[in-house]
Amino acid sequence: MPTTPPASLTPFLTDAHLPLWEQADAFATGETAARVERMEAAPHQVERKLPQTMAKLGWFGITIPAEYGGMGAGHVARTILIHRLAVVSAAAAAILQAGLIPIGALCHWGTPEQKAQWLPRAAEGSALLSIAVTEPHTGGHIGGIETIAVPTGNGQWVISGEKLHIGNSHLAGLHVVVARTAPADTTASKALTAFLVEHDRKGVSLAPHRARLGLHGFSAGHLILDRVRVPAMAMLGDLGQGLHVAQSSSIVYGRPNLTALSLGLHEAFVSTTATWLSARPRYGAHLADLPVVRDRLGAMQARLQQASCTGYHAVHLLDRGLPCDSILIGAKHTGHELAAATGRDAMELHGAHALDGDYALQRLFRDVQHTYAPAGTGEFQRIHLANTALGTPTTDWSQQLTALPSAAARGQPTAA
Ligand SMILES: Cc1cc2nc3c(=O)[nH]c(=O)nc-3n(C[C@H](O)[C@H](O)[C@H](O)COP(=O)(O)OP(=O)(O)OC[C@H]3O[C@@H](n4cnc5c(N)ncnc54)[C@H](O)[C@@H]3O)c2cc1C
Repeated sequence: MPTTPPASLTPFLTDAHLPLWEQADAFATGETAARVERMEAAPHQVERKLPQTMAKLGWFGITIPAEYGGMGAGHVARTILIHRLAVVSAAAAAILQAGLIPIGALCHWGTPEQKAQWLPRAAEGSALLSIAVTEPHTGGHIGGIETIAVPTGNGQWVISGEKLHIGNSHLAGLHVVVARTAPADTTASKALTAFLVEHDRKGVSLAPHRARLGLHGFSAGHLILDRVRVPAMAMLGDLGQGLHVAQSSSIVYGRPNLTALSLGLHEAFVSTTATWLSARPRYGAHLADLPVVRDRLGAMQARLQQASCTGYHAVHLLDRGLPCDSILIGAKHTGHELAAATGRDAMELHGAHALDGDYALQRLFRDVQHTYAPAGTGEFQRIHLANTALGTPTTDWSQQLTALPSAAARGQPTAA
């Protein structure tokens, strides 16, 4: 059933956002909800049907400019889609969000030729993208990337290395791969370069999809690059700008996406728990009538409201072209922390029932663990935030990357 956005979000939503909210709710509670059980029961399988439908709705083109076939609807619009979907299926929302991060990178860093080649296909969903930064040994330490790209002398590059936990690894037709293009002692801000690598190039392979703790149906797999040749025109951004491509995409696209994902889960924790407490009999009434229980539910609702306002406020600033890296980072950090705390309350308020077999709440509890690591772990968010507190913030990607047109932010109708 479509819901109405809470009044607290009014400052951040325009009339153009409302049909999108409604459409996202309808898709989430309809087609998505119908597949949730099947996805949960088959953690070893990659979900392919839902991304196809999302593609038909044009959702992978939500931030792609209209001139390339996208909606150009902006960052609040992107948050609406991921948030509403995550209330019903965080895995489906993860598929959408993982596809949108590399699209953001392409929109900002792509040459006119690269955009003309890939953005229309991304917008219509005939090509899904991934962004491949994390590696088996170096993890989130981008400066330590071991994948190397070596020039051949005839204008080509040969890329070798391995990438791990790559969102949509098994769906993507195009990977944005960040590789080392300079000697090990070169500073990270000059040592790395991003490349567009088609999934069917010789030397590109994937380890079989493995079931993860949660987000069943979402692939976050192991990409292997074995002497993969790409032409010079596959370089995304300039030589040595790979750190910028990775970092900017993570801050401007990854952080808000994960904020929206945790917000959807948060909402599901609260509504599931409120429903349970209202129906569970106790002393001739229900658990929801006990003051101590209500107190805890009230705390959950307070966290949800805080996460909701913080998350939408952050992307609203982004749509306005204001410098807000620190706000985006804080929203992702707070969004996960608050949702995880509410998840714990939800589990405990369901008592032993929460621990029974395939109890639905377990899916939410497992899924929320997946909003901690991507787009910056808590430790890295707090390093950034401490810099802000000390008056020495290190990035301003939000201002630099707001070249994307934003019809919804201007109050114009979207293609939705
Ligand atoms: C659902 C999901 C989707 C993902 N999607 C993608 C994707 O699309 N593309 C991609 O490239 N990656 C993706 N990732 C990977 C994600 O970016 C990494 O998990 C993250 O960067 C951390 O790397 P790691 O897990 O190897 O942990 P590590 O880097 O090994 O870190 C382990 C722990 O040590 C802490 N730590 C490490 N170094 C420091 C330090 N210097 N100071 C303080 N603490 C430190 C970390 O904060 C963390 O708590 C995804 C992960 C998940 C769970």
